[in-house]
Amino acid sequence: MTAGFFHEGDLVGVLTTQPLDRVLDYKAPEGGCQLGAFVEVPLGPRKVLGVVWGPGRGDWDYAKVRSVIRVLDVPPMREEMVSFLEKAGAYTLTPMSAMLRLATRSPGLGDPPSMRKIYRMGTGEVDRVTPARTKVLAVLEEFGGLAFTLKELAEMAGVGTSVVKGMVAQGAVFEEQSPRDLPFARLDPELPSKELTEDQAAAVAVLNEGDGYSTTLLKGVTGSGKTEVYLEAVAACLRAGRQALVLLPEIALTSEFLTRVEARFGAKPAEWHSGVTMTERRRVWKMVGEGGAELIVGARSALFLPYRDLGLIVVDEEHDTSYKQEDGVLYNARDMAVLRASMCAAKVVLASATPSLESWANAEAGKYRRVVLTSRFGASVMPEMRAIDMRSEDLPGGKWVSPTLKREIEARIERGEQSLIFLNRRGYAPVTLCRACGHQIGCDQCDARMVEHRFLKRLMCHQCGETKPMPTVCPSCEAEDRLSPIGPGVERMGEEVTALFPDARVQVLSSDHYGTARQLKAHIESIAAGEADIIIGTQLVAKGHNFPLLTLVGVIDADLGLQGSDLRAAERTFQLMRQVAGRAGRAEKEGLALLQSFQPEHPVIRAILSGDEEGFWAAEAAEREQAGVPPYGRMAGIVLSGPEVGPVFDLGNHLARNDAALKRVGAVVYGPAPAPIARIRGRHRVRLLVKAPKGVALQGALAEWVRPIKLKGDLRLSIDIDPQSFF
Ligand code: ADP
Ligand code: ZN
Repeated sequence: MTAGFFHEGDLVGVLTTQPLDRVLDYKAPEGGCQLGAFVEVPLGPRKVLGVVWGPGRGDWDYAKVRSVIRVLDVPPMREEMVSFLEKAGAYTLTPMSAMLRLATRSPGLGDPPSMRKIYRMGTGEVDRVTPARTKVLAVLEEFGGLAFTLKELAEMAGVGTSVVKGMVAQGAVFEEQSPRDLPFARLDPELPSKELTEDQAAAVAVLNEGDGYSTTLLKGVTGSGKTEVYLEAVAACLRAGRQALVLLPEIALTSEFLTRVEARFGAKPAEWHSGVTMTERRRVWKMVGEGGAELIVGARSALFLPYRDLGLIVVDEEHDTSYKQEDGVLYNARDMAVLRASMCAAKVVLASATPSLESWANAEAGKYRRVVLTSRFGASVMPEMRAIDMRSEDLPGGKWVSPTLKREIEARIERGEQSLIFLNRRGYAPVTLCRACGHQIGCDQCDARMVEHRFLKRLMCHQCGETKPMPTVCPSCEAEDRLSPIGPGVERMGEEVTALFPDARVQVLSSDHYGTARQLKAHIESIAAGEADIIIGTQLVAKGHNFPLLTLVGVIDADLGLQGSDLRAAERTFQLMRQVAGRAGRAEKEGLALLQSFQPEHPVIRAILSGDEEGFWAAEAAEREQAGVPPYGRMAGIVLSGPEVGPVFDLGNHLARNDAALKRVGAVVYGPAPAPIARIRGRHRVRLLVKAPKGVALQGALAEWVRPIKLKGDLRLSIDIDPQSFF
């Protein structure tokens, strides 16, 4: 696309957010429109959002072509954004309409810029506390200082608007006239930073070197000051008058980080994630485009905001699996960040204590710069790590805390320090078994076993979310009271630990126990402040939070991640164990991490204990190179699904036989085989895996391969480039 303007009546091609496979012709409206303009167009009986993508094709009777309804009051899509969406769409084999949906995930984009009333937490007391008023206060509290519209606030609280109005009268809620979408407060990069150590200053110099695109892997153990260092890259970017984006895994988006930004730059950044109100989201979308937001802190979809001049993208915890979107458009935010930056001469910082093998390999190959912060800031050091050999621990069946671990926890309680018991399994027990017939309760919709959740008093399928009440008789043999839980989940650990330490304050941290992400974060913060002696948690706790009183981490089952068909199993275990261990001893006190294992001589466990990261990566890299898998080869997963298993397999076999397009580029197809989860929500799933040498044009070949396929009935096909999970 080149710069251009269309006069009234000219034919323009409009890309809409509707799932159509072509750009549609419309007539430019009165006053004309710019290339890239966001417009509203008629489609059948509806009005839909679109972008002027180029001149029209003109293959339609001009008299019948309808007109663009109106041009929205937002800046046209920039050329650089157009090419980003096109390249990202081509890479992930995603239709452009879906890419445009990603880029316009903000409600009310087309609303006029009028004054409106907004509502936020007031200072007055309510004269009479009612359940409805309490709900309104709870919503205001949960969203901190954020503003709502009247409708939004009432809806979120589940009350009528009159309740809110009544509270306004009492001053418990403030009503303000606000010009729609105010710019965010200016950030001041000239405010003093912390005094950096020599190591840190050298790292900042590497990040800030040069003007154009570059990617730097910033590696350093938790607490080494990576955040301090990349905040200086943000400062440099702001000084240059450009915008900066910091991506965090959803759960790490804590107020702790926002407070640090405020301390460094004198104001809070713009936030973009699922915990932000719709009103605020639209403000962010618009301000990013107009330059009224300098720093955006967000989850992966913040990559698709319409930046005016993006100069820096930080991907914190770059190895985190939540950066891979597993629904809808299958993209990896880390890779897309690098793509986006390379198109607008921006810098990328990939920060992690335990980088992904992909990034490690790119640094080894010289594609990325690499800086390493070797020591923790201040007195704290990486905790001592030891294995507890479970083969020599005396432990009754159905119990999981070894005597050795128990002693260490006792010592911590005496000293007023915290212990974390880590088990990456939600719920009470992963399996419910009938002791009479051996039947294991499975999900009716999937091929997965149901997990007992005592807290919710239900069985739940972690694959599809299906739940059912806990039965009292076996669904298979109808024996009564013979169902028993097998294996531990965090809730069961909670029981065991409470029985072992009846006087200790025990807290279970698992995503099931919280209605919203904000509640969870608030709870984590209170625990960090000392409101627990023993914390039992899933991988939720492994991410980005400081627990200053925590000095002991006990990993219940370090072997858990070592099984399984996932090619990244070893890498994941290594990263997770090191991160969990990194939670201990972050303040002045020394930390200890104990890994319960039945195979302490396993190479991965040995690498974790010895802290020999380079050794681990080199070995892991060699193995993958040998197998020709990512990052040393290319892979794509094709999942076919349908309500009947027969037609799904037939289609899989048809694809496997007609693989000429793949053969031409040297790619090989494996399968069809039942997908590792062969049934989800009643749909049968079959998977094909395509492997190709590095450097071949895999996407083109894949597109050509599946193009002749007409999906009949309810069959579906999805392609996942560089699959992360092997579902
Ligand atoms: P990481 O991001 O690597 O986990 P942080 O940047 O969060 O590390 O640093 C850990 C702690 O040490 C934070 O509380 C941070 O403020 C503090 N810190 C790091 N570097 C410095 C410094 N140069 N001066 C003062 N405090 C520092
Ligand atoms: Zn299920």
